[in-house]
Amino acid sequence: MRYSLGVDIGGTKILGAVVDEDGTIIGKTRVPTDRAEGVDALPEAVDLFLAEANKPIDAIGLAVAGFVEYPSGRILFAPNLSFSNPDIGEDLSREYGLPVVVENDANAAAWAENRFGAGRGTRDMLMVTVGTGIGGGIIAGGRLYRGSRGFGAEFGHIPVTPDGPPCNCGSHGCFEAVASGRALGRMAQERAGDFPDSEVLRLAGGRVQNITGAMVGKAADIRDPFAVELLWDLGTLLGAGLAGLAKAFDPEMIVVGGGVLEEGESILAAAREEVVARYKGQVDPPSVVSASLGNDAGVVGAAQLSLEAAAARGIGEMHGG
Ligand SMILES: [Zn+2]
Repeated sequence: MRYSLGVDIGGTKILGAVVDEDGTIIGKTRVPTDRAEGVDALPEAVDLFLAEANKPIDAIGLAVAGFVEYPSGRILFAPNLSFSNPDIGEDLSREYGLPVVVENDANAAAWAENRFGAGRGTRDMLMVTVGTGIGGGIIAGGRLYRGSRGFGAEFGHIPVTPDGPPCNCGSHGCFEAVASGRALGRMAQERAGDFPDSEVLRLAGGRVQNITGAMVGKAADIRDPFAVELLWDLGTLLGAGLAGLAKAFDPEMIVVGGGVLEEGESILAAAREEVVARYKGQVDPPSVVSASLGNDAGVVGAAQLSLEAAAARGIGEMHGG
């Protein structure tokens, strides 16, 4: 059995996991960090993870929220993470004498869901993660499709409304600006005036500007009509985007993950209904299913990709398999 260290770098933590070649997590460690440290906190974290690993490590896979050039693994742009060394993967590889793969976090998650999660057994699959923003990954013909340079599958920044709300990427009207967790908070703030007695507004202490997407989820738990309506509308907007992606790629399955789905099951139900509506009278739509690996998808996918890269380079035999 071969083992990899999978590492997922987020804005508030670095997650490290020893993962075997079947995608099973053997051990997991979490190091808190802050946005200012970001990728720059990696060398210290990897040191710790490797020291704690109780298995011989054959490769390291890093999942990074940003634009990672393929196949060089250089980090070119990471708006939500600080980083000063685009070549950190190469540097770590030299330091530890191990193959290191750097991959966009959503791509890594998509690969994990395809190999070991909800999309297991499919050859053509899309992964869409809906959190604060929207990320994506494309599995085409059984392989991770990255585009010409590694920057593909940025579903969150497909423009959908020409005069839509501003997006963190500097553009406006992007898919994630209208159908993500951030969008849920904005929609709630815009419409709160129509529901002065809502639980959503009560949770925000009566201050519209304090409303967040999480408050909508909490209010929906007790069937607050405003919150229920918001979740359904968000799901419908999400479903419209998924239908567009489905028509572009004709996948067997769309796997949907991300923190926003925890605000209520109705989001996915509404999204499914919208996908079906937009296929009416045509052909059967692809199935839309929940991701099954949760927050572990990034480390599992990055680890698996690093083992595959190691095998392709003919290394990784040193521990006998
Ligand atoms: Zn955008």
